[in-house]
Amino acid sequence: MRLVCSVASINLEAASRGFGASKGVRSTLSVFKKEENTFLMWCTTKNKHGSRYKLHNNVEKIFSRMLSEGKATIRLKDPHLDLCVSGANSIDLQRLVNAIKVASTGQSLLGRGVLSSAEPVQNRVIQKPRTKLMVNSKQRYPLLEGFPSTLEQLAVEHCSLLKLDSRMLKLRHLKILNLSNNKIKTLPDSIAEMQSLVEINLENNDLSELPNTFSMPNSKLCSSLRCLKLNTNQIKCLPLDFGNLCELYQLHIRSNKLKLLPQCIGGLQKLKVFLASDNLLRILPASIKCLSLEQIDLSGNDFLKVGSIPPLFRLKDVSSLQDLAARVIIKKRLPYDKESLTHFCREFIEGGRCCWRCSLYCFESYIRTAISFNIANITHTVVRMDNEQAVEVPIDCIMCSLRCYQGSRLAI
Ligand SMILES: [Zn+2]
Repeated sequence: MRLVCSVASINLEAASRGFGASKGVRSTLSVFKKEENTFLMWCTTKNKHGSRYKLHNNVEKIFSRMLSEGKATIRLKDPHLDLCVSGANSIDLQRLVNAIKVASTGQSLLGRGVLSSAEPVQNRVIQKPRTKLMVNSKQRYPLLEGFPSTLEQLAVEHCSLLKLDSRMLKLRHLKILNLSNNKIKTLPDSIAEMQSLVEINLENNDLSELPNTFSMPNSKLCSSLRCLKLNTNQIKCLPLDFGNLCELYQLHIRSNKLKLLPQCIGGLQKLKVFLASDNLLRILPASIKCLSLEQIDLSGNDFLKVGSIPPLFRLKDVSSLQDLAARVIIKKRLPYDKESLTHFCREFIEGGRCCWRCSLYCFESYIRTAISFNIANITHTVVRMDNEQAVEVPIDCIMCSLRCYQGSRLAI
């Protein structure tokens, strides 16, 4: 067993003359047996063969009150020094301390599973776990060796990647994934299983869509993803359930081919930065009014003029039973699942939309119309439109009745 830890040594003779301790260095500590003697071996990157200290009758004291925090001090007699251990796995440190105690009395450690060889330590054992990796050319891509499983940040740019390397999907600790400036066309469904991702940057690729799993209710990204950068791709639409990404704080989707935003965009309650300039947006969904942003950019979109869109009347004189039942289920928040309702009924309920004026849910009976909305109502600090004065955008609304419809026209 080799214990990986930080070790500082204090030469007690020197300390008594006022000299300080050495700084803690990344090390391994192990015990090995040679002929009849057992030794403690302390290796560092500078001293791979290690300093070796005989243990029999040579341990003055072991300070082990902080073992549970991975700390201990081993005081040797000859040379008279303290080895101050920190940053160790507490269970392994306990085993090592026990082994040192046993060896110091002259008892054998054979069969206890703690003895190691006296071979010099290898660099990979002693080095700190790697948490960041940047690859910015094909030549530096770790084709054979793969990615260290300890990575928290990975950037692979300018490598002409066509898809995600499946080995990236297994990085359980990865928080920031930057694959910008490649040629990625699609993302695998399993990206939704990456549990620690906080930021994904896929700028300047060839994506035309996100996988359906991306924002499904059971996607791990729904509870972790805070920043999504998709600028300069070919994305035509976002998943219908995109609003499930409830931790999303920044969405950058400039220079794509978005024609519509999903109805549920208003569900992004934590969204603060929404940059969607240079797309093909002509009208925005009504739920946009639920956002509370700090920065929005909708320049470079050819929005429709409100007066140019005729209203669509789908009002029925009498509401259907299905309509009334769905309203009650939503209003009373009645729980339902696959067992209690058919797929058709669930789709019907989930397809309902709120009346812009009175928030009553509408299903089969409604008036669909476009109204003008001042984007400054949802933005605290920055509003960028083509014309600084023109902060009005058309909103695709549903009205439950003529009364609400006429009320909204009066408001304009
Ligand atoms: Zn209404």
